[in-house]
Amino acid sequence: MDKKNINKNNQERNSKVLYNLPKEVIYCRECLMSNQRPNMQPEHYNDDNKTTTKFTKDLCDACKWNKEKENIDWKEREHKLRKLLDKYRSRNGSYDVVVPGSGGKDSFYVWHILKKKYNMNPITCTFAPHIYTKWGSKNLYNWIDSGCSNYLFTSDNRVHRMITRLATEKLFHPYQGWVLGQKNFPVKFAAMKKIPFIMYGENPAEYGNPHDVYSDEMNKEWFVCDDPEDILIAGYEIKKLRKDLKLSEAELEPYIPITSKDYDEAKIKYSAFSYFIPWHPQGNYYYTVENSKNFTLSEDRSTGTYTRYSSIDDKMDDLFYYTCFIKFGLGKVHYDVAQEIRSGDITIEEGKKLIRKYNGEYPKRWIKELCEYLSINPNESPELKNIIKDTSFDEVRFNELADKARSPHLWDYENGKWKLKHPL
Ligand SMILES: [Zn+2]
Repeated sequence: MDKKNINKNNQERNSKVLYNLPKEVIYCRECLMSNQRPNMQPEHYNDDNKTTTKFTKDLCDACKWNKEKENIDWKEREHKLRKLLDKYRSRNGSYDVVVPGSGGKDSFYVWHILKKKYNMNPITCTFAPHIYTKWGSKNLYNWIDSGCSNYLFTSDNRVHRMITRLATEKLFHPYQGWVLGQKNFPVKFAAMKKIPFIMYGENPAEYGNPHDVYSDEMNKEWFVCDDPEDILIAGYEIKKLRKDLKLSEAELEPYIPITSKDYDEAKIKYSAFSYFIPWHPQGNYYYTVENSKNFTLSEDRSTGTYTRYSSIDDKMDDLFYYTCFIKFGLGKVHYDVAQEIRSGDITIEEGKKLIRKYNGEYPKRWIKELCEYLSINPNESPELKNIIKDTSFDEVRFNELADKARSPHLWDYENGKWKLKHPL
């Protein structure tokens, strides 16, 4: 992009806000999270009208909730948990609860406690990452070696790569195909296996999603649809993908949520463990290390942050968190810091330093491999040309997309460089 154009754009762009984000940037006075953080919402509908973490003046909802949690009677919650588990516990030792996850610290913890402390018969299920990191696949096998039965579903890689590419081009969201699969799969798996009880780890309401009616139940609208014909995948209508990419129903299946009707008929109870037991991600990590054979940390800190224990399975994570930084000004470090401050693991001053040091670090360690993943060979998938002309992909293309994805209320272009307008 030439500089003159961008400068001109800066003036024109000043009033513009993308993604329905709040125009004024506010950082939480307690955990440093910003009000630009999008809430979790159904991934299969239009992405244009994001809602963001609610703030009361300069206090975010997650911190407000953290304080309210001090009044929770955890003994009573555990009693509720025991009652719920007794309701679903099998009489003959067959599987009675589905635990979705990767074998990372959170899913390992939930699975282990359900099995060992509460004598349930869990089966775990995993929607495979784009590209496993070395330690990500080790941790899946560590889970299995530690006594866990696991169903690993891996979507057709040719199709998954095309969808990931389209979502990167259209939404600058290289994680969308996986997010869809990861949300859809456990519910369909539970229905298929006729195990009407799923226990997830942390309810997203914990970290700043609306929790006006917070209960032990996961929000159904995240993983069901009324009519599959109405959903969007990578921002495209499903009939367009069927026609232009010549995708079969089987190839599209992983990305299509269960219908509301089928979900209700399967009478699935989908709970989150964090409702019943105090949730501490770093504590889950120590628990997992103690109770497993070989839980492996990431070799280095993850790109764009200082931690080595969260979200470490998929190489695509690097790209995804960088896109969050571009779109919302929030890289992985920001999410880690907010969570660790709220959990009491680091101070706000330490958090500020860490954010200033790592926010927006360019994802260079696997960029070549990730670009190859997103670069689609026209001999293999000629249909993709019906939607995007140039199906090759490289860093130049990635950075072009990044520049288009920068919301003008967050970014200025000065002296040949992009700068956040309101850094912490
Ligand atoms: Zn906060």
